[in-house]
Amino acid sequence: MASVASYLVLGRGFSCAKTPTRPPIACLRLSRAVSCKMRNRHLSSQQKRQQFKRAPTERLSLNMNAQSHDNIGCEPEEASSAGVSHSSQITIPSNDAESDSNSETDVAVSSFEETNMIENNDEQEHPSIHLEDLIATIRNAEKIEELEKILSEKEALQAEINNLEMKLAETDARIKVAAQEKINAELLENQLEKLKTEISSRNSIEEGKHGTLDDESPLVLELNDLRKENALLKDDIQMLKLKLADVSKTEERLPLLEKRHSLLEASLMELQSQLSNAQDDVSRLASLRYECKALLDKVENLQALFNDASRVMDQPSLGLQQYHELQKKVDKIEALVTEATVSKFPSENFHHYDETLREKIELLEKQLWESDQEMHSQIQLFQESVREFHDALERLKEEIKKRSQELSLENLPQEFWSRLLLIIDGWLLEKKISVNDAKLLREMTWKKDAQIRDAYLASRSKSEHEKLATFLKLTYSRTSPGMHIIHIAAEMAPVAKVGGLGDVISGLGKALQRKGHLVEIVLPKYDCMQYDLITDMKALDVVVESYFDGQLFRNKIWVGIIEGLPVYFIEPHHPAKFFWRGKYYGEYDDFKRFSFFSRAAVELLYQAGKKPDIIHCHDWQTAFVAPLYWDIYAAKGFNSARICFTCHNFEYQGTAPASELASCGLDVHQLNRPDRMRDHSADDKVNTVKGAIVFSNIVTTVSPTYSQEVRTVEGGRGLHETLKSHSKKFIGILNGIDTDAWNPSTDNYISVQYSADDLQGKAENKDAIRKCLKLSGSEGSQPLVGCITRLVPQKGVHLIRHAIYCALELGGQFVLLGSSPVPHIQREFEDIANHFQSHSHVRLLLKYDDALSHLIYAASDMFIIPSMFEPCGLTQMIAMRYGSVPIVRKTGGLNDSVFDVDDNTIPEQYQNGFTFVAPDEQGLSSAMERAFQHYIRSPESWQQLVQKDMRLDFSWDSSASQYEELYERSVARARAAARV
Ligand code: ADP
Repeated sequence: MASVASYLVLGRGFSCAKTPTRPPIACLRLSRAVSCKMRNRHLSSQQKRQQFKRAPTERLSLNMNAQSHDNIGCEPEEASSAGVSHSSQITIPSNDAESDSNSETDVAVSSFEETNMIENNDEQEHPSIHLEDLIATIRNAEKIEELEKILSEKEALQAEINNLEMKLAETDARIKVAAQEKINAELLENQLEKLKTEISSRNSIEEGKHGTLDDESPLVLELNDLRKENALLKDDIQMLKLKLADVSKTEERLPLLEKRHSLLEASLMELQSQLSNAQDDVSRLASLRYECKALLDKVENLQALFNDASRVMDQPSLGLQQYHELQKKVDKIEALVTEATVSKFPSENFHHYDETLREKIELLEKQLWESDQEMHSQIQLFQESVREFHDALERLKEEIKKRSQELSLENLPQEFWSRLLLIIDGWLLEKKISVNDAKLLREMTWKKDAQIRDAYLASRSKSEHEKLATFLKLTYSRTSPGMHIIHIAAEMAPVAKVGGLGDVISGLGKALQRKGHLVEIVLPKYDCMQYDLITDMKALDVVVESYFDGQLFRNKIWVGIIEGLPVYFIEPHHPAKFFWRGKYYGEYDDFKRFSFFSRAAVELLYQAGKKPDIIHCHDWQTAFVAPLYWDIYAAKGFNSARICFTCHNFEYQGTAPASELASCGLDVHQLNRPDRMRDHSADDKVNTVKGAIVFSNIVTTVSPTYSQEVRTVEGGRGLHETLKSHSKKFIGILNGIDTDAWNPSTDNYISVQYSADDLQGKAENKDAIRKCLKLSGSEGSQPLVGCITRLVPQKGVHLIRHAIYCALELGGQFVLLGSSPVPHIQREFEDIANHFQSHSHVRLLLKYDDALSHLIYAASDMFIIPSMFEPCGLTQMIAMRYGSVPIVRKTGGLNDSVFDVDDNTIPEQYQNGFTFVAPDEQGLSSAMERAFQHYIRSPESWQQLVQKDMRLDFSWDSSASQYEELYERSVARARAAARV
């Protein structure tokens, strides 16, 4: 059975075209292992040398044998990466060695026979012996001896001549090479001379010796320009320095000003306390003034009395007495007045003091205000100049960067580009790259293309092989309008979808198509597909026959367009009616159904004469494609593609009794080996996912965290060792979602469309679903928790059940959309659904309903995903796009896409949901409680969270770029390997 061997060769880009003298099978067997190849190479060259010494005339035939050995050197490059351990069937190299020694024996035998023949002839020609005859005979014999001697000398001479001729030929060749080298050396000397002249002329310009160069010469002009620019730059720097000096002076003055400011503030405080003292004094002065006024009034009264008394003094006795009395009173009053006048003085002083104080205060305040103003303007000036300085510095940096980039690219020594040219020419001569590739690369080098410069610089320290791949990738991106990528899968959204796989096929397919690649899909033609979503569906007037169970079966081929992607549907005419079962999976003969489909799909591509760059198969259902392709089809010349395999869930590995593998034409004996397809659980069981890991060029899974988890004993489910040994080609890429299909602002399934900028529609969708499902709608603020899932143990069904009760306890509502392929789980949830049949806050819908799923995403406030493990998970991404905040268990892809709102170690812009680690009710309850508290207590911040989630980018663009990069690298590596 040559099929595995053929994979081993072709799976690594081996080209049989290089061994035209050998039939393909022998060629295939010859190229089993790198180590064998090396051994054979040594063997053949050693033999060549020995044979050349022994028998020059045999050289040609022996060299032909040696040539065959050398052709074993067409070993595919990825032997280790594809990881198939090669068998020990390397029989051809030993056969070749045998035939070489046989040739030697043949030479010896023939020369022995020739000698015998000469002796016999002599006897027959001389039957009677006379003396003369005897003498003559002796002479003849002497002559013959002499002749033989001469002949042998001649032969020796001839050998020597041959030798000399060879040496002459070698010398001729050497002379030619030397002559070529001399020419090259002369050319280099000329170039050196030119360079020297240029350098000296440049030097003379530098030294100002313009006499030798014309002032108008572009070099001088350019130099002058550069000088001017230099001078301007220097001026700029000078100015900046001055500004910097000003700034530092201002900085120095700042502490002084601050000190003055604090002193002024202190004296202001003192003055304020003096002012309040003075104000006290003033109020006392006012009361004194009042007293004074009262006294003056009294004086006036007394004066009036005195005048009256004077008039009465005209009456002598009484009058005199009254006069004395009055005089006394006046004296008294005068004393009082004097006293009052005396006490009036300090009040005037106070008033004066008060005035001076006020003036002083005003002055000080004015000074303070002025110094404040000055300080403020100084600070503003300082800030202004710092800003200017920074701007100028940035501009300068930018300028310097730009110039250094320009200079570095322009000034890369010519030597650099010449070296690059020589490398490219070397590869061309060694036939490692095609003439076209070399032409493109040369052109890029002449044009001093930045891409080729970067490619060279980046791959300098890498191996020759990697360098080649990097350069070929450059030519590939220039020449190719895109890659031809064919997905072979069991699902495709929206027409045939069971879970995330369906979304990936259409989402990734469309994203790759948008990037300019030719993308085609091959699907089984299920009877239960949503045919109304397929446009231009028609049956082709062709029948493709494919092998199964020892005979050929006819397949009807249909074509149609799904989401803008061209799709081929295979309808097998097999009595078992493989895809006429009313469901996608879960049939007793699933292994047969999908091994038939895989074989028919590859057969279709082969018969259609397609030359894809990538065949991408998904999950165990189409994992058969990888061994089928390398085992059977590559040997038929259908070998343009590299195989990419994506495992969307390592729980499903497609295991079966080894004998079942034979149905689709695979060689059970060759494949049921521990390093190939044998399942870890039993010697007579094969594992299709394992086969695809071993036989594919690229292996991916659907999130980085999951790609780590499956390398562990627990996560790998028996495949951790296989994954470890193929880890170089294994990577996790987070799925995206189809943002056209999942877009709340254009979604026709939902009641009201809405966006992050206008969330009104979201509330209306919540009302709509409440009405539709007959849930209570009295409390608008009551949070609605959604859950859309397959009800399988992986999804944490016990925690989903717990979440229903938890949401009720916390005062929320709960809607579940899901169905289970596991009967007891389906029954359990039917019981719960019945229990809550007429409950006003809980509804369980146990079915698959795409349209309803859109409405639930739009209506719910929170979305629950308590998975035990989750390869990627799409529902959390869809939920966020619809503004439903996810509450998830930290595992697999959930860990890569949901980040806890309360986790301070995560930058705020990434916080987008609620997570828990422990896979138990407590963990889930605490996350739900936090979410409810956030929702109820901080409605505004909740709304911001909703808007943030809706704006996150989960589109396929970045993931598709990663796939594109993987494909391109693999294709370039294959091309490089094919040429080595
Ligand atoms: P898985 O592939 O493991 O089922 P994913 O989260 O990767 O889980 O993808 C699930 C996809 O299937 C989502 O698009 C989800 O909306 C959809 N889905 C799951 N169950 C149902 C259902 N009962 N009705 C409608 N869509 C569903």
